[in-house]
Amino acid sequence: MSQASRTRPSGSSTALSEAYDTALLDLDGVVYAGGLAIRHAVEALGTARDGGMHLAYVTNNALRTPAAVAQHLTELGVPAEPTDVITSAQAVARLVADQLPAGARVLVIGGEGLQVALRERGLEPVESADDDPVAVVQGYGGPDLAWGRFAEASYAINRGLPWFASNTDLTIPGARGIAPGNGAAVEVVRIATGAEPQVAGKPLPPMHRETVLRTGAERPLVVGDRLDTDIEGAFNGGVDSLLVLTGVTDAAQLVAAAPEHRPTYIDADLRGLLTGQPEVTPAGENFGCGGWTASARDGRLVVDGEGDALDGLRALCAAAWSHAGDGVCELDAEKAVARLGL
Ligand SMILES: [Mg+2]
Repeated sequence: MSQASRTRPSGSSTALSEAYDTALLDLDGVVYAGGLAIRHAVEALGTARDGGMHLAYVTNNALRTPAAVAQHLTELGVPAEPTDVITSAQAVARLVADQLPAGARVLVIGGEGLQVALRERGLEPVESADDDPVAVVQGYGGPDLAWGRFAEASYAINRGLPWFASNTDLTIPGARGIAPGNGAAVEVVRIATGAEPQVAGKPLPPMHRETVLRTGAERPLVVGDRLDTDIEGAFNGGVDSLLVLTGVTDAAQLVAAAPEHRPTYIDADLRGLLTGQPEVTPAGENFGCGGWTASARDGRLVVDGEGDALDGLRALCAAAWSHAGDGVCELDAEKAVARLGL
């Protein structure tokens, strides 16, 4: 890693919606969960957009088309056009098209979003390993994807065809809980082939490239709930990020984040776009933020104070990240996180 590790969350004297021209928003766990809008998301996004911020939605889910995602967002009260939505299906389609001749036949294991994205790049989706494909592309196919599709992919890959995957998220959150994601499906095919796919989705560069190409963002802010996709993707792309606590990441995971998983800013939900961010101030071994002070001492993390618990979390992250440097903080944070009530 060439750049110096982030050792504390950043402050911002202006609202993030003014400091950045484009928000690159993750969907699941940020805008909606299980198909329903997350608390405060609709109002906060409306206010940010009215203030001039461009909103784009960046999802690793390759199942649905951008048009279907945009319609869903619009129904939730977040008006969006298909061009505002960037999917890992689009990113993998560009990756495939860059390596194959125009009109090439591609065996597709996945849903409509992947089919549409491949056609958009001039590729011809086919169903069988016997349809003379020259590559295999695999994306999330939803609960109805038949097991036989993994066999089809395996036959083609074992004949020596190159293999591409939209993303490798192992799980996917749904209304009834956590289900196996495309990464789990990729593992199934890997077991039968021993091969290694080229992957497009977050946190990898093809997805970030697709997003920048499609949005024209000059000063983007990545907004996400997941450290190993959203925040690491922002880190790899060299752009700033906001972690919201409405999805899969909790306070303890943030405190223990590896350097590539440390967000620029931390907030409870999307209302964080509309405000500035408080500074974390180092003073000797202590880090202060709002009414809270945190430090690493006697082999554990300590935080004390009062006021907004988020400020306490920002101070606690600074104490942990500074202590860990280029590594992962292994000090006991349980009591400190409990003290914050997070
Ligand atoms: Mg998410």
